[in-house]
Order: sequence, then C-alpha cells, then structure tokens
Amino acid sequence: MNPFSYQRVTDPEEAIHAVSAHNAKFLGGGTNLVDLMKDGVEHPTTLIDINRLDLAQVTTTASGGVLIGALVRNSDLANHALIRRNYPLLSQGLLSGASPQLRNMATTGGNLLQRTRCFYFMDTTFPACNKRYPGSGCAAINGYNRIHAILGASEDCIATNPSDMNVAMAALDATVHVQGPKGKRAIPFADFHRLPGKTPQIETNLRSDELITAVELPAPKFAANSWYLKVRDRQSYAFALVAVAAGLEMDGTTIKSAGLALGGVAHKPWRSMEAERSLAGKTANAEAFKKAADLALAGAKPYEHNAFKIELAKQSIVRALTLAAQGRREGAQA
Ligand SMILES: Cc1cc2nc3c(=O)[nH]c(=O)nc-3n(C[C@H](O)[C@H](O)[C@H](O)COP(=O)(O)OP(=O)(O)OC[C@H]3O[C@@H](n4cnc5c(N)ncnc54)[C@H](O)[C@@H]3O)c2cc1C
Ligand code: SF4
Repeated sequence: MNPFSYQRVTDPEEAIHAVSAHNAKFLGGGTNLVDLMKDGVEHPTTLIDINRLDLAQVTTTASGGVLIGALVRNSDLANHALIRRNYPLLSQGLLSGASPQLRNMATTGGNLLQRTRCFYFMDTTFPACNKRYPGSGCAAINGYNRIHAILGASEDCIATNPSDMNVAMAALDATVHVQGPKGKRAIPFADFHRLPGKTPQIETNLRSDELITAVELPAPKFAANSWYLKVRDRQSYAFALVAVAAGLEMDGTTIKSAGLALGGVAHKPWRSMEAERSLAGKTANAEAFKKAADLALAGAKPYEHNAFKIELAKQSIVRALTLAAQGRREGAQA
C-alpha cells in the first residue's frame, strides 16, 4: 500500500476544497476504495474522510419523492420505512448486495462509484488493462470474459458495473445531486455513468473535484408492483451475472408505465427505454414481457465465455416482470 495522508472534514465546502489536491479521494465506507488501495489498483495521495458531513438522512421532497443523503449506509437505506413502503425495488436490490457487514459500512455515494469487478482490473499482475493503464490494452477481450459485458462495450473495455443499488436507481429514474467548486448541479441517473468508448478509465460524468451530496427519487409509481431479480453463482455474497430491476405502474391488468434496468451486462446500469415504452399500454402478460426482453437485449454482443448471458438476461426479464405484475413484495435475498 502506498503512503497517503488522511484528512477529516466537517462541511461540504471544506471537502471540495480538500479534494482539489492532486489525486485526493473522498473516503465513504471505504469498502471498495481501501481494498483497491491495498491491492495497488488505486493510489490516492490523500484520503478526505467525509463521514462527519451532515449527509446521512432520508427526507421527503416537495414533489412527493425522497432525497437520500450520500452518507446513508446501504443497510439503513434498505430498511428505512419510507424506502420499504414506497420503493421496495430499491430495498430489495440493496439487500441482494454484498453481506450485512459490508452493507452496514457502504454508503450511497460510495456505492454509486464502486469500481468494476473485472478480474484483470483488480489484479495488477495483469499488465493490460485500459482502465488501470490507459493505452495498455484489454486482457479480458481475449481472456476469461464470463462475467463481462454484452451491451454497450467497446474494443477498449468490456467491464461491467457491479452495483445492485445502481440498477434499482436506474429503473426508478433517480437524479444524482453533486456539489463542486462552481456550485451545485443535478445529473439524471442515465447520464451519471458512462459507456467505456475510448476512455474506459473515465467511468462517470462526475468531476474529480465534485462531491456527491444526495440521490433523489421521484414520487413512487412502482410501490405495489416491482421486483429485483439477481442471478449469480451463489445465492448470497456474490455479484450479479445478470440482474433485473422491474417496476410496473398498473391499472387493473393494464400497464400504465414501466421501469426496467439490467445489471451485470454493461459498463453502466442498462436502462432500456425501448422495452419500457413497449410495455406501456399493454396487458401484463407473457407476450408483452417477452417482447420487452427481446427489445432490451437488441444489439447484445457476446464474447467467448459469456454468450449465455443473452438468453439468461431475456428469461430473467420475463421472470422479474411476471413477479412484479403479481405484486409480490417479499423475498429480498440476504
Ligand atoms: C466482498 C464484497 C462483496 C460485495 N458484493 C456486492 C454486491 O453483491 N453488490 C453490490 O452492489 N456491491 C457489492 N459490494 C460492493 C460494495 O457495495 C461497495 O464496496 C460499497 O457500496 C462502496 O461504498 P463505500 O461507501 O464503502 O465506498 P468507498 O470505498 O468509500 O468509495 C468508493 C468510491 O466512491 C468515492 N466516494 C465515496 N463517497 C463519495 C461522495 N459522497 N462523493 C464523491 N465520491 C465519493 C470514493 O472516493 C471512491 O472512489 C461488495 C464488496 C465486497 C468487498
Ligand atoms: S475489461 Fe476493462 S477493466 Fe477489464 S481488463 Fe479490459 S480494460 Fe481492464
């Protein structure tokens, strides 16, 4: 582990000023950043500990939604009465991630920015990784790419975003609030994470001197009909091979509107607007769900070891939409 300095801050302005130092990074729960520092993947010169900032509340907004502070822990968020009642999809997604101990530490802001679990990225003995060393190549493209992307990848990087929370927030049409030296701005969730293109090392549209302060969810539409389905190698404590966040706004058996996002398949949570549009106005049945699944996977491109993900994702979408339509709300995985 490289030497680094450590600084505690107590207000956002101080945090933003401190992070403008060369290669400084914010410390949330530390469950991702500190691991990567120990492995030699990340080497910040300064850690700015933001845990004393007043950003750990979940509050209601004037438009009927919620504002989730960037320091709300994943366990607290998943178990918050407002979230359980109005956004069970988010609760279920969060509870499917990591382990109870990790969720007790992990923060909303840190989870948004957690880095890929690509083996070649996390293991510095592999020299070729455009994300770690831009221009060095991609060991995964011709390597063991079972867990890698099938949508939106580029010839420079086929990594996936590993977060479950992100998938649920994409389907819920969240907005990320940030603050930097030039003031505050709001980034729609779909524009927050980036596809790899030629610059896979730039993973989000957050600037390096900006602090995430909160995530906002609009007024709930899917409280009665949603499902988070996570398919993984083990039933718990494993990242998703494919995950589906499905929300339906129902009028009897007719779908008024839908939210649909996939995890484990792309460099960012993959929200399919085409699939969502195809569901609106339809009767909730297998035919409509299958059409949505086909649309969501249109353009999918497999690599040597991950072709199975295309069919897996389609079947998972149909299953998640079916469970959402049935109005089941229990069953979050530990
Ligand atoms: C063994 C293991 C299994 C896991 N399984 C899963 C899983 O199944 N599903 C899942 O979703 N996750 C899983 N995780 C990941 C875990 O959820 C993340 O490590 C965690 O959410 C990161 O949050 P953190 O607060 O600890 O972030 P940190 O490690 O503190 O920070 C992560 C990044 O975010 C930046 N950051 C933090 N807060 C802010 C802020 N407010 N503004 C700007 N930048 C900020 C940091 O500088 C850093 O770059 C697992 C982790 C481990 C170790
Ligand atoms: S997929 Fe991306 S993160 Fe993985 S080795 Fe290739 S460039 Fe690196």
